[in-house]
Amino acid sequence: MAIRNVHHLNCGTMCPVGGWLLGQKGLGRGRLVAHCVLLETDRDDLVLIDTGFGTRDVAHQTPLRRSFRAMVGPRLDADEPAIVQIRALGLDPRAVRHIVVTHLDVDHAGGLSDFPEARVHVHAREHAAAMARTRPIERQRYLPEHWSHGPRWEVYSEDGDTWRGLPAITRLRGLDADVALVPMHGHTRGHSAVIAPAGDRWLVHAGDAYFHRRTVEGGAAPIGIAAFERYTQIDGAARRASAAALRQLREHYTDLDVFCAHDPVELDALAAAAPALRAAAPRPA
Ligand SMILES: [Zn+2]
Repeated sequence: MAIRNVHHLNCGTMCPVGGWLLGQKGLGRGRLVAHCVLLETDRDDLVLIDTGFGTRDVAHQTPLRRSFRAMVGPRLDADEPAIVQIRALGLDPRAVRHIVVTHLDVDHAGGLSDFPEARVHVHAREHAAAMARTRPIERQRYLPEHWSHGPRWEVYSEDGDTWRGLPAITRLRGLDADVALVPMHGHTRGHSAVIAPAGDRWLVHAGDAYFHRRTVEGGAAPIGIAAFERYTQIDGAARRASAAALRQLREHYTDLDVFCAHDPVELDALAAAAPALRAAAPRPA
């Protein structure tokens, strides 16, 4: 078994204006999370899926835009960066040898510089979009300071492989564990889901392919979420197709845990279930 332990982490609480527009109770600000996953593996040490905000963000050493901070309300809590939580788990952050990212928006790439030695696996279209920042929305969403340390990028395009009927990049360089990228474009140009086997189930980290669980449960996202999805999308038709593909995956297969980056209810449910997986996993000899 290549993956023997899974930790669901919140690496960036955000408190956007209008919680009720997000389907949450009360008239105050809402609560969103930055759901990252830490995998303890047999052969690849630690693998991190997405990175949330990093220590430089919480120390206000990166220029997060004023409009982003006003609207999205990142709390920038010093306890939340992945590197801090990894140490709190009693693990060595230098053992994070691989980071697989859904995309490179500020709230997903902030922690990259906390792991300068890690190989960073990302879709080629996402990497190109983040480096070029050609459109105004791309100059807002990507922060070059998040990769000014010069990460060891590993970029990929679709190579003909599939997973559950979807195009997938199933062989990530240097990784023994079955972690893969499943392109789910639309939110950004190269946005992808990241999948990983955990016990007898598959984790499907859908990133920002959707923002509220209702989207994949067959309902409609709350009005504020739907508006935000449209505001931040680079390609509406592709984004809707990605959400539909995730909904179908969830309907057709019962062995998937599909979750997005920002829904706190999904994170709480998976974090509560993770200890059972750890207990069931065989310990290494
Ligand atoms: Zn996001």
